[in-house]
Amino acid sequence: MEFTRFGQKMTANAGILSLMDDLGKATACGSNPMIMMGGGNPGQVPEFQEIMRSRLMAICQDRQLFHRLIGGYAPPQGEKSFIEGLAALLKKEQGWDIGPENICLTNGSQTAFFMLFNLFAGVMQDGGVEKKICLPMAPEYIGYADLGLTDGLFVTTRPEIELLDGGFFKYHIDFDKLKIGDDIGVICISRPTNPTGNVVTDAELARLIALAAEREIPLIIDSAYGLPFPGMVYCAARPVWNDNLIVCLSLSKLGLPAVRTGIVVARKEIVQALTGMNAIMSLSPNNFGAMLAGQIVENGEIIGLGRDLIQPFYQTKMERAVAVVREQFAGIPCRIHKPEGAMFLWLWFEDLPITSLELYRLLKDHGVLVVSGHYFFPGLGDEWKHKDECIRVTYSQGDEDIRRGLAIIAGVVRQIYEKKL
Ligand code: PLP
Repeated sequence: MEFTRFGQKMTANAGILSLMDDLGKATACGSNPMIMMGGGNPGQVPEFQEIMRSRLMAICQDRQLFHRLIGGYAPPQGEKSFIEGLAALLKKEQGWDIGPENICLTNGSQTAFFMLFNLFAGVMQDGGVEKKICLPMAPEYIGYADLGLTDGLFVTTRPEIELLDGGFFKYHIDFDKLKIGDDIGVICISRPTNPTGNVVTDAELARLIALAAEREIPLIIDSAYGLPFPGMVYCAARPVWNDNLIVCLSLSKLGLPAVRTGIVVARKEIVQALTGMNAIMSLSPNNFGAMLAGQIVENGEIIGLGRDLIQPFYQTKMERAVAVVREQFAGIPCRIHKPEGAMFLWLWFEDLPITSLELYRLLKDHGVLVVSGHYFFPGLGDEWKHKDECIRVTYSQGDEDIRRGLAIIAGVVRQIYEKKL
């Protein structure tokens, strides 16, 4: 069968596809189930699930609410009362100067990135220079890599690496090398960053905001793990919005990935554009997340839940995972990116004799799924050994599995360094 160029592009061997495939398969290794440390599934936070369960039951018991849940299309901008409640909350709690006209819902924030990237980058109306997307931080989210309708949409620069005490390191944006030329249509950064757990500092963010304003292009802040919710941030960081920023939020990492609800906070014209795209692509965004979470948005509880429940849940898991790495990887050249947010440890094995993709395959044979680090450098053309020396491991699942998984990874990596594998 012959596909169009678009078809080719959307069906090619994308990193995100192999990652989601791995996530869905939950393959067995011998008699043991595979230890899933690859994907981005959030952990199960029982208290949060209980709140959602009772809310769903209450909706089901109210005929009118139940009808709204399943029986009508939402407007293409998204469920109206959720949007109004959220705008009021963000205005009151964060001081953001916004109203309902600044918010659009999408079927997951992944869909929002598809729309936003192709809105601001690609062939422009005048048919002149093709605009690109600048990712100022590398490594960056694997899920961006294949979202462009045209090829070669991303540009990035190598980060600076700060070596820290205790076997940690941290990437910083290299502002000296960062070039925002006339060919850049938009800048985008995830904060916290997937895959590293890096949180760009307030000062770095302020410089990016200034650069974007100077160039008169928008800056997208992907806050899927961040502030003001779900709040998976373990260092000081301030959530920001202004007219030139596009802040993307999501209900997924709170614990609702299956309801596919993304939230874009942006200036009115951008919200109108996304609303039109929603209508064309899917008539209207999903109602489910907005209905389930509407009440905790309206009463403001969502912020406290992030701060008092979700954040401590993941911070504890992160600290446990770091302690296991310390114990299991003793004597192995393994550095951990300073885990400042999200739910991943980014491990760097300097001068590893094999590539991270080969390591991923070996680990899969040993019953542990991780993600090879090389996928996370979209737009970084130059050869850089470092790209093949890192893996991402997720610590959101059961502590015992994480302990076993990390022990297996350490065993395999040790043998590789000792040339026994
Ligand atoms: N942004 C980042 C950094 C992510 O890690 C993810 C998912 O893992 C997304 C966006 C998309 O999330 P969703 O489409 O579930 O909102």
